[in-house]
Amino acid sequence: MRQFAIWLLLLVILIIVEAGKDYYNILDVPRDATKSQIKKHYKKLSRVYHPDKNPGNKDAEEKFMELSNAYEILMDDEKRGIYDRYGEEGLEQHKNGGGGGGFHNPFDMFAQFFGGGGGGFGGGRAQQERKGPDMQVELEVSLEDLYNGATVELDVSKQTVCDHCHGSGARRSEDIQTCQTCQGRGVTVTRVQLGPGMVQQFQQTCNQCGGKGKTIRATCPACKGHKVQRSNEQYTLSIEKGMKNGQTTVLEEEGDEYPDAIPGDIIFTISTVPHPLFDRQGDNLYTTQQITLIEALVGFEKTLKHLDDSVITLKRDGVTQYGFVQTIKGSGMPHFDHPNQHGDLFVEYKVVFPTSIDKDTVELLKQGAHFPTPELVHEEL
Ligand SMILES: [Zn+2]
Ligand SMILES: [Zn+2]
Repeated sequence: MRQFAIWLLLLVILIIVEAGKDYYNILDVPRDATKSQIKKHYKKLSRVYHPDKNPGNKDAEEKFMELSNAYEILMDDEKRGIYDRYGEEGLEQHKNGGGGGGFHNPFDMFAQFFGGGGGGFGGGRAQQERKGPDMQVELEVSLEDLYNGATVELDVSKQTVCDHCHGSGARRSEDIQTCQTCQGRGVTVTRVQLGPGMVQQFQQTCNQCGGKGKTIRATCPACKGHKVQRSNEQYTLSIEKGMKNGQTTVLEEEGDEYPDAIPGDIIFTISTVPHPLFDRQGDNLYTTQQITLIEALVGFEKTLKHLDDSVITLKRDGVTQYGFVQTIKGSGMPHFDHPNQHGDLFVEYKVVFPTSIDKDTVELLKQGAHFPTPELVHEEL
């Protein structure tokens, strides 16, 4: 009998070791973590371990898959419940029983947060959580990046929920206690005897706990009980070809974090850095070229470096009037919706006159030159 008991104990230990995978550990959240906590940790960690950021790194890839799996289970109320009670084993059975409906593609899940389609998942939140305000960030982008498309890395300073206490503000979870004054109700009732048989009741927010119903015995050393801290978070944004000034790129639920609310979005608004050579109007580009008087009279061939470093040849035969505008079809900005199509490039010529002409040249010009000239018009000022 005793032998059997020892054998059974060994078997139990074996099963525990086998069960191994702790989804809460993988996502570094407490067992009572809220969905927004889970989501936050998943987002943070999955960015770090994404295979795109760790090319060829098998460990990172495995970790990424593990994170996605843990996230999927813990965000699903039913699966989380089964996991909490029966562990991974229970989930396997649940899945085989046809209730699970299979696992999601971890890349779709990632894309859902960080752009690139994906679409709805999870079928609605169990409880409606409050959402914090959106964050507006101006994103300065060069005209080159808007022409060619680009990936930009940027740091955003924002409020994050304390990693140490997960937003409770307490040193450890044991340090959170039910308020003694209000017995956890958050309100206190005061009775005042107004006269014989006349009692009035006042209900007011508990002074001790500020209406929360809980008090904290020892505050978190990392955030000093503030529950949040400021930190810098790194994001990778993709600038699409042809994006315009004022156009926005949204990172959903990446704004300031709050212990009891879903973060708002970060809304990046494109602001184009003025370019020394090109001016943009819609999908057209405008630039000015200086030519000498000789070039204006006899023609020229010169080159212009475009925004993608390609070279455009500017060629004119004969006379080019001051202020003449040459249109180069299809050399403007790419259309945002159809990046293979481009607007036009307009080149305006400005003639730089010589500062002086020597006497001999003046004589030659007077003698030999017969310029057909348009009739002079006196413009009213
Ligand atoms: Zn209280
Ligand atoms: Zn803390």
